Amino acid sequence: MVIETAVQTFKNLVNGQWVDSVSGATFENTNPANATEIVGRFQASVEEDVNLAIESADRAFQTWRYTAPTKRAEILYKAADLLEAGLEQYAQELTREEGKTLASSRMEVKRSAQTLRYYASEGLNVAGETLPSDDPTTFVYTKKEPLGVITVITPWNFPLSIPVRKIAPALVSGNTVVFKPASDTPLIALRLVQALHDAGLPAGVLNFVTGSASRTGTPLVTHPAVKAVTFTGSTGAGEKINKSVRLSTRVQLELGGKNPLIVMADADVEQAAELAIKGGFELTGQACTGTSRVIVMDSVHDQFVNALIAKTQLLTVGSGLTKGIEVGPLANASQLKNVLDYVEIGKAEGAELVYGGEHLSEGEYAEGYYVRPAIFTNVLPNMRIAQEEIFGPVISIIRVTSFQEAMRIANDVEFGLSAAICTFDPNHIQHFINNIQAGVVKVNRTTTGNAYNAPFGGVKMSSTATYRESGRGALEFYTQIKSVYHGV
Ligand code: NAD
Repeated sequence: MVIETAVQTFKNLVNGQWVDSVSGATFENTNPANATEIVGRFQASVEEDVNLAIESADRAFQTWRYTAPTKRAEILYKAADLLEAGLEQYAQELTREEGKTLASSRMEVKRSAQTLRYYASEGLNVAGETLPSDDPTTFVYTKKEPLGVITVITPWNFPLSIPVRKIAPALVSGNTVVFKPASDTPLIALRLVQALHDAGLPAGVLNFVTGSASRTGTPLVTHPAVKAVTFTGSTGAGEKINKSVRLSTRVQLELGGKNPLIVMADADVEQAAELAIKGGFELTGQACTGTSRVIVMDSVHDQFVNALIAKTQLLTVGSGLTKGIEVGPLANASQLKNVLDYVEIGKAEGAELVYGGEHLSEGEYAEGYYVRPAIFTNVLPNMRIAQEEIFGPVISIIRVTSFQEAMRIANDVEFGLSAAICTFDPNHIQHFINNIQAGVVKVNRTTTGNAYNAPFGGVKMSSTATYRESGRGALEFYTQIKSVYHGV
């Protein structure tokens, strides 16, 4: 017997009310492990919905900006508790719409609750300073003020933790928010909004509109009442947004990566292979900090490649909902096409595909977007697979004969998000830390992963470097300084 599960239609949150789009239209998202399964229906929002959401955020700002910081913090703490209370349900939902393993989803929900608590506490420290004054009759000090309405636009690969690390610092510092999630993963985004709403956020302080990049995203970045746009996504979309925002709108763009792992001759090769797998294949390679290039010294090259292949062969590929699976599907059909295209590009460029890369489409894989993790050797630094972000489980191995050559190749890409080195040589470690062009630098650790209390962001085409996300400094983006001269 076929059991039909009713597909639920979810609403936008505007001015504290769960509402339908004025368009009357919805879109569906599906499970990438089985694309015949619809996860939910969501509002296909248009400019009018966006305008209503921004107007409501603008009105709410007049009160929220003066709400006691302790009251704002209490709401975030409560939302963290609600997220944790629903952890198992939310992890399942996240995996159903994004595809990552349940273990990764559980970690993301837990981590998001921690981040909410971290900012609940940091929000109490938004402070200016008193300054020495040459004039004894004038008291000089600075104060930090919120900006107003913030637009938050996020991708599907960390559909809960990325929105949290933007929305939490925005709200605790007194701003109001309009949030548009990626259309592949609106359900887990809605759960976050629901938790904050149920925790007691006043109407209009956080608004939620789902929809396409063009009909929902564009008006959200161009509206004159929006004081800042924080965006994480592809470099192409970031460039478009950068061009379309007003001069007076503050912009934060977190974009792509082409992250290297350097394996030196003295490295623990087994550990290096494990770090490459974790960074390159966990999350099906769909992390902005994913390991996509491994630059290996000639003397350990063959040993490393053999270890990497042996360990990759053991990885289980399948639905993230199934226990024991280590590599889930790609998130959508265009991701699958993109990865398969790059495998063909690599072969055509003359790199050697030594493992994987095939589309898995039979039996349990028939309805999903599966690819076997791919390893290329004989990759030259100027090949497209060594230069362009693939955003999938493809590792390109580049053989080098010196540390200087490794550093030159590591830096010779347009991106600069994360970079790692495997070595125990203190000179190489110091040189690497000082000269690698990346915002996140790891020694004997994977390129992926970052702590909620450490700044996160990249250089070159990976970020607009003015403001970092995560950590204390994240609040800088959401506040502006006023200098006060008070005659006494
Ligand atoms: P994407 O750029 O296609 O979409 C991201 C979000 O932006 C979505 O919500 C989309 O609807 C919206 N959007 C796209 N174009 C827009 C426009 N012109 N105006 C307004 N909104 C627009 O990215 P994706 O495919 O969802 O995510 C994958 C990309 O995200 C990769 O390039 C990855 O490197 C990047 N990423 C970066 C980081 C980081 O912190 N640097 C983290 C995760 C993902």
